[in-house]
Amino acid sequence: MISDAQIQQLSSLLQGKKHILIFTHVAPDGDAMGSSLGLQHWLNRNVQGIEDVQVVVPTPFPPFLAWMPGADKVLVGTMQEAEIQAVASRADLVFCLDFGEPKRVDALAGTLTSLTCPKIMIDHHTSPDEQMADLVISYPAAPATCFLVLEMLNKMPIPGAQLPYETAVAIYTGLMTDTGNFAYNSNNPELYEMIAQLLRAGINKDEIFDNVFNQYSVDRLRFTGYCLYHKMRIFPKYHTALIALSSDELRRFNFQSGDAEGIVNMPLQIGAIKYSVFIREDVDKIKMSFRSQGDRPVNEFAREVFNGGGHVNAAGGESHLSLAATVKLFEDNYQHFFKRD
Ligand code: 5GP
Ligand code: MN
Repeated sequence: MISDAQIQQLSSLLQGKKHILIFTHVAPDGDAMGSSLGLQHWLNRNVQGIEDVQVVVPTPFPPFLAWMPGADKVLVGTMQEAEIQAVASRADLVFCLDFGEPKRVDALAGTLTSLTCPKIMIDHHTSPDEQMADLVISYPAAPATCFLVLEMLNKMPIPGAQLPYETAVAIYTGLMTDTGNFAYNSNNPELYEMIAQLLRAGINKDEIFDNVFNQYSVDRLRFTGYCLYHKMRIFPKYHTALIALSSDELRRFNFQSGDAEGIVNMPLQIGAIKYSVFIREDVDKIKMSFRSQGDRPVNEFAREVFNGGGHVNAAGGESHLSLAATVKLFEDNYQHFFKRD
């Protein structure tokens, strides 16, 4: 997907750089962490003259990604603001991975946009903000940002460059999580050529699956049961399922960041359900997740009604109304965007 011209631009932007900063999106997922850490390890191994590569995330990553090589050195916006300002002030090159607009780095948006050094965006979301970076590598058809990062690394004209084991692990994590363990967005044959490359680089894919998907707490699994048994509402005419949770309900299950990951996909296991919506009351806003199957876009709905966006079949948004008013806003609008048949 990535053109030779883009690779050339990237190589020249890298020339002589010493302090590299990698930003990724709020509530980082496996693709955000995987693309960032994967690139960090690769640059450290292969590019002469680099003194430091720092990964920065706006909010904490979930516990099921804490095992990733290098995760312990990631700076978190909500906890290490002073450290982030310090590294930002000396950065001479910035990568923006897995997001296409400043808003997606939350409270770090001001820091990011005020940096004057060159910026490179690598992303697979629709409608990237072309002003955000000097080099925009945006391919919404890519199954994951990790796919684009590995393609880019494979094309970099650095003699003797090697794929570090840590990069292979990180990239596989992003490919696996962004495709629901290769259940969707995963028909690209090159994806499987990449997996073969990563296996040859020494990854244990079964172990990575176990690290990410088999590490739930008791509370988390009971929370899933509660969502499906007590909270799921079905709107049969529009093949839609809705789960909405208040902050009190989240507290009952000792809700941690990342605990909702994947639950929104579950109603799609029902034959007749083609749209799934998950709404939860966060500290300062209502967070919404939208999923769909096939030719049923949810990103337009997310953008127009809930100030969000994302992919055709996976999008997110937010609301600053009450939970009840947010659910009402959803109920008043979804028929205009969702298909009946
Ligand atoms: P999730 O439901 O997992 O939070 O997000 C699903 C997808 O939509 C992800 O690819 C995520 O990057 C994107 N997304 C989530 N929230 C927003 C948002 O507020 N704005 C935009 N543009 N994309 C979002
Ligand atoms: Mn992604």
